[in-house]
Amino acid sequence: MSDAIPLKLFNSLTRQLEPFQPVHPGVPGEPDKPAEARVYTCGPTVYNYPHIGNMRAYVFADVLGRTLSFKGYKLTHVINITDVGHLTDDADAGEDKMEKVAAEKAQSIWDIARHYTEAYWADIKALNIRQPAQWTIATDYIDEMIQFAKAIADKHCYELDSGLYFDVSTVADYGRLARAQTEDGANEIMGRIDEVEGKRNAADFAIWRKTPPGEKRQMEWDSPWGRGAPGWHLECSVMSGAVLGFPFDIHTGGIDHREIHHPNEIAQNQAHCCTNGLDVASNSGANVWMHNNFLIERSGKMSKSSGEFLRLQLLIDKGYHPLAYRLMCLQAHYRSELEFSWEGLQAALVRLKRMVMAVTQLKARHAELVSASIAPSQASVEGEKWTLKQVQGDEFEMFVDLVINFEASVSDDLNTPIAVTLLEDVLAKKKVTPEKKLEVLAAMDAVLGLNLLTLERQDLRIRPKAATITEAEIDARLAERKEARAAKDFARSDALRDELAAAGVEVMDGDSLGWEWKLG
Ligand code: AMP
Ligand code: ZN
Repeated sequence: MSDAIPLKLFNSLTRQLEPFQPVHPGVPGEPDKPAEARVYTCGPTVYNYPHIGNMRAYVFADVLGRTLSFKGYKLTHVINITDVGHLTDDADAGEDKMEKVAAEKAQSIWDIARHYTEAYWADIKALNIRQPAQWTIATDYIDEMIQFAKAIADKHCYELDSGLYFDVSTVADYGRLARAQTEDGANEIMGRIDEVEGKRNAADFAIWRKTPPGEKRQMEWDSPWGRGAPGWHLECSVMSGAVLGFPFDIHTGGIDHREIHHPNEIAQNQAHCCTNGLDVASNSGANVWMHNNFLIERSGKMSKSSGEFLRLQLLIDKGYHPLAYRLMCLQAHYRSELEFSWEGLQAALVRLKRMVMAVTQLKARHAELVSASIAPSQASVEGEKWTLKQVQGDEFEMFVDLVINFEASVSDDLNTPIAVTLLEDVLAKKKVTPEKKLEVLAAMDAVLGLNLLTLERQDLRIRPKAATITEAEIDARLAERKEARAAKDFARSDALRDELAAAGVEVMDGDSLGWEWKLG
């Protein structure tokens, strides 16, 4: 890490690349007072499994967090779990997603929330996304939400039969994040919001939603505005401010949140702090607002309403290691749209395999050299050109450039597509000790999170759920086939190959990656 390479991030609020300037810069020379980076990521609404598009948002936030750690900042990352208040339309219309599913399934909303939160956490783990400092669960913060709403209610809100509404005309620059400031102010983007009678501006939104008379929700609480539930936008303002303190450094989410959810969070944060305009970034509650672009899939398999939608588990069931999907995400810049295809995922898996195999070889060579240094007579490894003397005499100039370029690429608004190629360049580099390479790879992988130093080749070979043959059976047939070939019994060898093919297993003689078989 070098001070000479500043971290630059694209701030959606200004639509510009900006050098990262932490709110808490620390005290130079005092290691116990490091510069801090405080980051809040909008988490999932746990009414269903996340799709892989959702998970792209968390891979992006994870790479951001890892980069901040790599650059030496003390990271505090918070991700929330929305278990109440998110309506079926991000704007102000529709039903509560959680209540709707609970009613459809005739189940407890709390059970549903727990089930899908755990499923989401399993995906987080499978994608090697680091645990944040804190997961904030929305329903744990109801009191704080009521206090926040009370603090802004007099000056910024008004009550209607259906709830407490935020008046967006009471803060400066409403909608700037969405670039919605046309002559009509914010009303343009809010045109699709269902009209609620009595609303002062089309863009006004409920921060507390009253339970309609005669109805009962599974989740409802008493408040000064009657029994009901908080609005989704209020939740994130409250949880981010409560845990990280306003202003904090970076707020992230998918690009859809740039249009409604985050402008509304910003308006609430302004109401809470100052009402002033957004030319001073910190007035919005966070200095930098970052958004990942969408993962798209043309046939609609990303939609959770389609039967077999693209969950991470579906990828695993089809035999793809989840880190192949992570690599697929890293191969695109987070601000670019990324199109999902099975071919693309397969290519990412092959690329990951190559990296893992190269690292495995490197580890083996390193182990040989270490043992050689203990027993000098074995310093020259048979069949290899490597000798201890040779590697110790190497110069690292070209290598150092790669390391600097890697840092420059991730510091350039998280340019992971370039960073991945630089990691491969390190793997391919000649005349550098395995020890040095492994050290550099570990530092690079700490940012990319591909688990390259611990993954084994066999970890990447996942048996698809639909496969009709076990790995033990495959291994047994292959061993038999080897014997047949050794005995020049080619008829038997071919018969075994056909038998395996009928079971969906393709035998791969002479595969450059060293795979003996793959499932077709
Ligand atoms: P939700 O659970 O709907 O609140 O979404 C969780 C996160 O996923 C949010 O940050 C969304 O902006 C993000 N997101 C939703 N769909 C996609 C997609 N297709 N690609 C990338 N991110 C998405
Ligand atoms: Zn949020």
